Amino acid sequence: MGSSSHFDVAIIGAGMSGLAAGIRLAHFGKKVCILERHSVWGGLNSFYKKGGHHFDTGLHAMTNWLEPGYRGPRVPLQRIYRQLRLSPELFQLEKQGHSQVIFGDVRLRFENGLERLASEIAREFPAEVDGFLRLAGDLEGYPEANQDVPFESTRDRLEGYIKEPLLREMLLAPLLWYGSAHEDDVDFEQFQILFNSIYREGFCRPREGVKTIIFALVRRYAETGGELRRNTGVSRLLVRDGVVTAIELDDGAVVTASQVLSSAGLVETMRLRSDQPKDAVREHEGQLAFTEAIHVLKRPMRELGFDAAITFYNRGPRFTWRSPEDRLVDLDSSVICVPDNFAHESPLAEHRLRVTHLAHNQRWFSLGAEEYEAEKARMVGASMSVTAGVAGDFRPHVTYTDAFTPRTVTKYTGHINGAIYGSPHKQKTGRTDLGNLFVIGTDQGMLGIVGAMLSGVAVANTVGSG
Ligand SMILES: Cc1cc2nc3c(=O)[nH]c(=O)nc-3n(C[C@H](O)[C@H](O)[C@H](O)COP(=O)(O)OP(=O)(O)OC[C@H]3O[C@@H](n4cnc5c(N)ncnc54)[C@H](O)[C@@H]3O)c2cc1C
Repeated sequence: MGSSSHFDVAIIGAGMSGLAAGIRLAHFGKKVCILERHSVWGGLNSFYKKGGHHFDTGLHAMTNWLEPGYRGPRVPLQRIYRQLRLSPELFQLEKQGHSQVIFGDVRLRFENGLERLASEIAREFPAEVDGFLRLAGDLEGYPEANQDVPFESTRDRLEGYIKEPLLREMLLAPLLWYGSAHEDDVDFEQFQILFNSIYREGFCRPREGVKTIIFALVRRYAETGGELRRNTGVSRLLVRDGVVTAIELDDGAVVTASQVLSSAGLVETMRLRSDQPKDAVREHEGQLAFTEAIHVLKRPMRELGFDAAITFYNRGPRFTWRSPEDRLVDLDSSVICVPDNFAHESPLAEHRLRVTHLAHNQRWFSLGAEEYEAEKARMVGASMSVTAGVAGDFRPHVTYTDAFTPRTVTKYTGHINGAIYGSPHKQKTGRTDLGNLFVIGTDQGMLGIVGAMLSGVAVANTVGSG
C-alpha cells in the first residue's frame, strides 16, 4: 500500500462507530478504508488475554435490549440490525436478571421494562410514583438524531417531576455512570436517550463477551469489500482551503480520501490537523476518568447471595459525578458488574466481578513507574474491601485480578485524559468547520456500544447519501 491510495471515505478508528460507519458507507457503494492504530479492533470496548484469562476491556452491559420478534415502533438496536443488514442472532444477546441502585441503606431494583422500577419507587418513595410515571411518559421515544440542540440541565428538569432529592440522585446515577461526559449533570436530551436505553429497554450481554459484537461487525465489513488496516495510526490530517487534503500515517505513508470520518475524539481529531496548534481546544478536554478492577473468581457471586447484574452503589445520599479533586480514586461510589448474573442460558466458563470507580486523571498520569504500580495495587485492595461490604466477601474466592487506570485507557485508545466519555462538548451533527471532516462515535454525542454504532450509521447516512 503506498502513497497513491485514494478512497471515497477514510475512517479513523475501528471501534464500534468506525466499523458501523464503514459497513453503512459500503452499502452506499463507497470505497472505504478504516485506519486503526492498534493491532485489534474494538477501541474502548475491545478484548485481550492476560494471565491465561480472556478479558473484555470495557463490557459491563449492552443497553437497548430488544425482545426476540419485537414488532413495535422503531428502536435503536432494530435500526442497527436493519441499516447494517445484520441478523439479530449474530450478537447472541441475553438479557439481565435485575440490576439495582443502592444509596446507603435504600435500594431500588430494576429489570428491563419500567414495571419493576415503578413498583420499587412505590415502596420506597410512595409520594413520587405519579411524578415518575409522568416523567416516563414524557420521555417516551427518542429525540431526532444529529440535531444541534443546546445543553439543558437534567438536574433542573427533574425537579419538575420528582420532589425527593434522594430519588432524583438514585435515578440519575446509572445514567450518569453509563453516559455523561458532563461533571455533575447530563444533557436532558441525552438523559432521554439513556432513560429509554437503560430503564425502558434495558441491559443485555453477549454470552461470550464483546468479541461476538466486534467479530460480527468486522465480518460484515469484510463482506462489503471495505478495507481495514490495523497497526496503521493517523499522525496528521493535512488541511488546505477548508478541507482535509491528505492523511499522513505513523509510518510516513500518505492516503487521500474525499471524506474523512474520525472516531478518535473531538479534541484528539483537532490536534491531528495541520492547521491547528498541538494543544488546540484545551477547554473541550473531557475530565471524567475511571479505574476498574476485574476479578476472576472460583465461585459465582450468586453463591455468596449477590444476584444483581449491575449495581450502582453510592455511600451517601448525594451522588458526586466528578473527577475526585484530592484523591486518585473516589471509593464513595462504584459500579459493580457481575456477568454471571445475566440470564445466560448456560453457565459462563469463568466467574467475574468488575468494579469501576471515578478517578482523577492527572494524578494517575503524574505518577512515576514504581509509584504507579504501587498505587494501582493499593486501589485494587481498597476497592475490594469497599465492594466486599456491598456484595459480600468475595475476596477469598479471587484467583486473578487485572486492573486499569486512566493511563491504560489513553495508552490503548488515544483518548486524552483517559476520558472514556470524551469531551463534554459534543458535535451532535457530526460536522466540523472543515467541509469533508466529520466526527463520529463518542464525541458526536452518542455513547456506549449501541450509541457508538448508531452514531456511525447516522453520520454515514449523511455522508453516503450526499
Ligand atoms: C472500561 C469501559 C467500560 C465500558 N463499558 C461499557 C458497557 O458496559 N456498555 C456500553 O455500551 N459501553 C461501554 N463503554 C463505552 C463504549 O465502549 C464506548 O462508548 C464505545 O465503544 C465508543 O466507541 P467509538 O467508536 O466511539 O470510539 P473508540 O472505541 O474510542 O474507537 C476509536 C478508535 O480509534 C482508534 N484511534 C484513535 N486515534 C487514532 C489515530 N490517530 N489513528 C488511528 N486510529 C486511531 C483507537 O485506537 C480506537 O480503536 C465502556 C468503555 C470503557 C472504556
